[in-house]
Amino acid sequence: VTFQSLGVVDVLCEACQQLKWKTPSKIQREAIPVSLEGKDVIGLAETGSGKTAAFAIPILQTLLESPQRLYALVMTPTRELAFQISEQFEALGSSIGVKCAVIVGGVDMMSQSLMLAKKPHIIVATPGRLVDHLENTKGFNLRSLKYLVMDEADRILNMDFEQEVNKILKVIPRERRTYLYSATMTQKVAKLQRASLQNPVKVEV
Ligand code: AMP
Repeated sequence: VTFQSLGVVDVLCEACQQLKWKTPSKIQREAIPVSLEGKDVIGLAETGSGKTAAFAIPILQTLLESPQRLYALVMTPTRELAFQISEQFEALGSSIGVKCAVIVGGVDMMSQSLMLAKKPHIIVATPGRLVDHLENTKGFNLRSLKYLVMDEADRILNMDFEQEVNKILKVIPRERRTYLYSATMTQKVAKLQRASLQNPVKVEV
């Protein structure tokens, strides 16, 4: 199996090649084709499975077809994960000039507001700080969003970000694609799934 055979466009196949990724991982083989069909996806996968590229490649591919700022939001539980995810988006999207902003706590709001004002293509955020910006940064909103990713959803919910997640869900378009990735399927995750995904396809490693 190659990235090409999953329907990935040449420029992104070349990016994978440059990263020395020879073949798609199992979660990528399962998630990329259904994502490219425009389906919502619930993915049961852990860090190390290649799940980041499983959601990043389909997002970048449709972004390439119709370029737009503030295109996708990735919510993740920790700062470390946020930076790792942003790095993968930028590595995969380097030849097409993809701009990411990482919005996490512990960094001053003002410099983040400036990043948001430049309208990145992709925002990778922890829920608490993103809500801070939605409430306090003038001119910032997520009304143009086409994709929402909830990465490590079980951890997001275990860290008591449920209220923030619900606030974010209220201010993003209902017309969007949603990908929810989680290592475990807990009751809280199932509830979030029902509240945020439409006819999702389930993929597992
Ligand atoms: P993740 O599970 O998304 O955190 O990815 C774990 C690591 O696997 C990252 O460092 C990626 O660069 C790497 N990776 C992702 N996809 C592939 C692939 N198809 N082949 C080899 N390495 C990969």
